[in-house]
Amino acid sequence: MKPKDKEATTYPPVVQQPQSATTVVITQQPAFAPGPRPMRVTCPNCHQHITTETETDCLCVAHFVCLALFLVGLCVCSCIPYCMDSCKSVSHHCPNCKVDLGTYVPS
Ligand SMILES: [Zn+2]
Repeated sequence: MKPKDKEATTYPPVVQQPQSATTVVITQQPAFAPGPRPMRVTCPNCHQHITTETETDCLCVAHFVCLALFLVGLCVCSCIPYCMDSCKSVSHHCPNCKVDLGTYVPS
């Protein structure tokens, strides 16, 4: 007759070590989100506080809508897409160093 070993059911107490809070603070410059209007930003190239120079350019969709309106006989209305901000992309430049800062494309 073997002496039945008593199963050890007592587990060593789990010591929860406080995790060292190593929060890495990343100070990141907010990404430049180009808008439809000139914006006051710090130029990433020359580090000057500038107001962006904007240059509008018609999107392909404007030409397409213009052509479509022209073909259906709405010649007068065919220029409307060129007057709509939603059909124009706006590219931003630094007036100081002329670097391209980004392009706003309406969604
Ligand atoms: Zn600049």
